[in-house]
Order: sequence, then C-alpha cells, then structure tokens
Amino acid sequence: MEPDPQEHRGGISRRKFIHLGLHSYAGFQLAPPLLGSLAFLEACSTPVKTIHGACYHDCPDTCSWTVTTQGEKVTGFGPNSANPYTGNSLCSKMNFFPQEVTFHPDRILTPLKRVGPKGKGTFAPISWEQALTEVATKLSTIIQEKGGEAVMPYSFAGTEGLVQNNAMGSRFFARIGATRLARTICGDAAFAGVNAVNGGSTGVLPQDIIHSRYIIFWGTNPVLSNQHLWSLAQQARKQGAKLVVIDPFLSQTAAQADWHIQLYPGTDTALALALINVILAEELYDQAYVDKFTTGIAELRTHVAAYAPDTVAAITGVDAAVIQQLAREYAQGNPALIRVLIGMEHQANGASAFQAVAMLPALTGAWQQLGGGLLHFTFDLFGEALNWERITLGDTLQNPATRTVNMVQIGRALTDPALSPAIHALFVYNSNPAVIAPNQNLVRQGLEREDLLTVVLEHFLTDTARYADYVFPATSQLEHWDLLTSWGQTYINLNQPAIPPLGEAKPNSEFFRLLAAAMGFTEEYFGESDVEIIKKTLDSKHPYMAGITFDYLQEKGWAELQLPRPWLPFAEGNFATPSGKCEFVSSQLTAQGLPGLPAYRPVAYSEEEIKTYPLHCLTIKSTCGFLNSSHANVDRLRKEEGGPVLDIHQQDAAARGIVDGDSVKVFNANGVVSATARIRRKVKPGVVCLPQGFWSSLVAGNASANALTNDCLTDMGEGAALQENRVQVAKG
Ligand code: SF4
Repeated sequence: MEPDPQEHRGGISRRKFIHLGLHSYAGFQLAPPLLGSLAFLEACSTPVKTIHGACYHDCPDTCSWTVTTQGEKVTGFGPNSANPYTGNSLCSKMNFFPQEVTFHPDRILTPLKRVGPKGKGTFAPISWEQALTEVATKLSTIIQEKGGEAVMPYSFAGTEGLVQNNAMGSRFFARIGATRLARTICGDAAFAGVNAVNGGSTGVLPQDIIHSRYIIFWGTNPVLSNQHLWSLAQQARKQGAKLVVIDPFLSQTAAQADWHIQLYPGTDTALALALINVILAEELYDQAYVDKFTTGIAELRTHVAAYAPDTVAAITGVDAAVIQQLAREYAQGNPALIRVLIGMEHQANGASAFQAVAMLPALTGAWQQLGGGLLHFTFDLFGEALNWERITLGDTLQNPATRTVNMVQIGRALTDPALSPAIHALFVYNSNPAVIAPNQNLVRQGLEREDLLTVVLEHFLTDTARYADYVFPATSQLEHWDLLTSWGQTYINLNQPAIPPLGEAKPNSEFFRLLAAAMGFTEEYFGESDVEIIKKTLDSKHPYMAGITFDYLQEKGWAELQLPRPWLPFAEGNFATPSGKCEFVSSQLTAQGLPGLPAYRPVAYSEEEIKTYPLHCLTIKSTCGFLNSSHANVDRLRKEEGGPVLDIHQQDAAARGIVDGDSVKVFNANGVVSATARIRRKVKPGVVCLPQGFWSSLVAGNASANALTNDCLTDMGEGAALQENRVQVAKG
C-alpha cells in the first residue's frame, strides 16, 4: 500500500488521528484534552453508551465484553464482569483490541485492487461499486466457461460469530454451485474419535472442573489457550485436586502441574491403551458401570494385551512404572477428569488417540460423579438449543453432488494439473491460508497463479491478502452484529455494533449480499438482514433456551444455556451411540468397514528419511500473543514474542554445534524456517518445537512454521496431521 502522504508532511494523518483519539479499556477516560470550548460542549452533550459484545476468536473461552462509546468514539473497552464464567478478564491478546485491530493504523478501510506482482502486496484503492462490478464480471465468465466448481471459498473460524462466519457466504457459494470446502483443519479428528465411543463430544461442563480431584490436561495448554478454565482448575487444586499434564512439550501449563508426563509426539494412543491395560489387569475398573452401560469389554481386554506398560514405555518414552502409577491414580481419582482439546489430534494417529482416551471415564465409572468424566467440546449443546435453519441454509441449498476439496490440501488443489475443473476463483474470508495451511510453499505457489482470481475479505494485508487481486475491507467485531455460541463453554452472546463501520468497511454478510446483487441474483434469502438471521436463530423452543431472547441478550449481552443440573450426562448410560452405551468397539466405525478399536499405528518412515531428517518437529501454539495468525502484525505482541524460537534438546543442539540463542535454520523437503535456538529442557531428545502463527512477510527468511508441515490427513475426521513432520536443524 502507498504510504499516507500526510505522515511525511509533519502533519497528522487521519488514521493516526483516529488512533490517538482512542483510549484503552483500563482508563475509560475521555479522549485528549479537548480542543476548545465548543468541542468540549459537544462532547458533554453526546451521550455515553455501553454496548455489549463478545470475543470472536477461535478460542474456547468466548469472553463477554462491554464497549463504552461517546458518539462514534470508543472511550472504554473491557470484560463484561457480569458474566460469571468469563468474569473480569480478557486475555493479553485482546485487552487493547480497539487500538490494535479496529483502529490500527494499518487497517484496510477501502477496497483495493492489485497493481503489482502477486505476493508483493502492491495495491491501489478502488470504489466498492467498481470492484464489485469487476469481480462479478470475472466470476460470471469463469462460471460460464469452466463451471461453478471452478470457484472455491476458503474460510474457517477467523470469526466464531455465526452470521459473519458464513451465514451469507455459504448461500452465495451454494447458489453458484462452487466447490464445497471440507472445513476440517481443526476439531474434526478429535470429534471423530470421541464420537466413536460416546456418540457425541459433550461431556463434563467446564465449570464443573471445580469438583474434580484428579485432573489430567492431555495435550492442552490452558494457561495459554483456555484461561478461564485454568482459573477454575486452580480453585480445584486449592481444594486438593492433583493436576497432571500429558504433553510432549514442557508447556506453560506443564510447568505449573503437579506431574508432567512427557511422551514422544504421536504416541498418545499407545499410552491410553496402556492405561486401559493396567486398569483392567489390576481390576481397577468399575465392573457394575461397565456391565450396565458399555459394550465390547471382552474385545477391549484382548486388544490392550498388546499394550503392556513395558511395551508402551519403549514407544512413548514414558517409564513403565510411571504408566502404572498414572493408571492407578487416575482410576482411584475421586472424581477424575480428563481434559482434551486440540494438541493430540494433529497427528496421523490423532482420532484414534481421542477414541482411546474417551474410553477411560466409562471404564472407571468416572461419569457417575460431578467433575468426573471427559471434558471436550460444548458445541453439541448449542447444536441442540438453537434454531440453525438460517445459519445452515447455505448447506441446505448445496447440491450434494458438487465436489469437495479439503481445506488442509489447498496447496494441492491450487496446483494439481489433474484437478478438473481447476480452481480459477478463490474467495478467502475469516482465514489466512498462506500462514495457517500446511505446506506453505505449495500454497504460495498456488496463490501466485496469474490465472487465479483471488478475492480476500480482511482487516489487514495478511500474507494471503498480499496475493489477492481484490481485497475488500471487513468490519471488526466492534462494527457489526453477530451471535456467538461457544465450543468451550455454555454461554451465548449477542455482539452489537458499538460504532459505525470505519472507512468503507462492510460486514462479510454485506459483501456477499452486494456481490449476489452484482451477479444479478434475486433470491429472497440474499435480502435477509443480520438481525433477522440472529432473531430467527434465537427463535427456539428448546428448554436450554428458556428465557433467552433477542431482547434479553440486547439488554444483558450474554446468557447461560439453561441446562439441567447437576449435569451428569452419562451417569446412567444414555450415550448417543447406536447402542445407547459407551462403545469400546465402535459400531459406527465397523459399519463403515473401519476397525472398531483404536490402535497405535505409527507413520513408517524409511531409514533414509530418518537419517536425512532425524528430528520430529512439533508446530505448536506456544506464543502468548497470537491466536493462530491473528494479531501477528501487532507491534506490542510482536515485541513480546520476539521472533520464532526453536526449542531443541541440549543433546541435539550440541551434536550440531548449536548453543542457546544461536540463529538456526530448520528445514526439510518442504521448506526452510529461520529461528533462534532455545535450550531449556522443554523437549525430549529427537524432538524440536516451533511456534505457529508468525506471518512470513514479517519474519526473517520469509517463511513460518507451516513451511515445514505436510498436508497429510488424520486417521479419521480428515483433519490436519500438522504434527507429523521430520526436519533437520543447522546453525546459521
Ligand atoms: S481470545 Fe479467548 S481468552 Fe482472549 S478475549 Fe478472546 S475469548 Fe477471551
């Protein structure tokens, strides 16, 4: 983008003016010493308003917030402390959200058209009308000449708000018969594993962790990524709970646990099956619960005979005695809770790991106690509670025969000469595939195609937006309506616009309405407003929604689902599987011709591969400041993070002549990433760890963690096996 000329004339640019006029949530002060008495009088007569909203991020917390405004100025921003779950704090990423996103001086506030080579980020402003006309004309030609499937949307959870996420976009893409996108990059493998056992993913409610007395955080780092659950876990610990963390990385949570069990990456399935082996062998299971509410115990017993502690110790790197002690303590934990989230799903064996872990609470009968069981997703509860018809209309309108492309493999989809029809138009919104998708160099190669029309809806010139032909300015959460459910807790939030859209920004929903009009589409469903969609979605007679109306939410901002208490979903069986029982041998999987029991199936690397790339590389959410790739352009957070850091074991570092603080190159056949070596006993020998989320355009070497990852899929759920990477590391 061109620099703002005013910046260089000793004056103050419009953007900087807006920036200076905004104050942090902490102050709630009125803006700058007001300029003269007239302005002062105007300010005094402008009413102060408090508007409710909620965080839109792909985060289990879904914090409620309030925004204070005076006229079009934001004068205060902070947590809505009335919400008993999200309480008095947002996270450090979001404390300064108005300044660091909405009013950020680099925010895109007008449509842009590319004027230089793809990837260089050179654009010129263009009017909405002209940009829409040009996009609609090009799109119509592509559809006419190549067919609707030559068009592909690419979006994920850049906003969790139901309307701006995809309510209108999905209608548009269904209308043109676009390629369908399998949005499976995160969560689907985990769900597939737990669903095979329990018939759904809902288990213990997060607020009930305070009743737990033995807590296992398995492959999750709530200190960083689930702060309100972490607070509640601290309450449980004060009341005597023991906290165990199972993680190949010494995460911030592992560092604060009572016991960190550090296994090799990708071996969770073996560890879980070994725990079952011990629990059965030592008769630590709940015979009555197993007899009444489970199926397949005999097959499970036979199956886990191959996972004796000694055998599994060699696989996991965890001593047999530790495996036995963990099994005993867990089985006798009273109540015992296992919290699973994202970490262990992104491996080739990821869904099987979830399937194996999900069996443990039924085996021990933990489901019978408040605070006992498995704590996973909560989105099934909202799935039951709301009227989803207007949100999922796009899915309903889709032709099921239309082809599907998996979002994990966008690089392949954009470069595969055999794909017919090839993708000729790509619409990216709520996502940044040049950073978050695996095999980054292949993704970029695809985005560089001159014959690809790329349209991006964004706040900033992200790595992906730099490749766009057209960038349209999207509104931030302070500027649009939305309704937020949660996959990590049980509160629903209404997000109300606190200020009018800045510049020429428009909500995603409005972009698709306008593009539909420019294409000449006249279907009534394109005319539905955001508020109408929200009101219809809330119009549910489900008992969980008793008393929760649009008016109620407008007044208060948030509401808790009206769930029966105490919440003990499987105390008396009632699993949502075909048998109604917890299925150790999954009938859903056997019906699909798949193995009914989970097994540890490591990826078979050749000797040559292991010799060339001897280290297993985890690409994890180890940064405090970024959420996936969001906020990675914010100066404050970039300074806090520094550049990408590679955690490496002393032994592996010494073998390469690397000392703490050295610049290193991490590489494999996919790419090369520059990082700074950190030798702090955070990983085992043979394992290195690299943080995700950095924008390639803002770091040395112009590549970030996904330059090293493969686009292979998980064993079930078609998720991303992002953690299945081998690399070499060298100084330099
Ligand atoms: S990113 Fe998560 S913890 Fe931070 S404010 Fe948003 S919902 Fe809350």
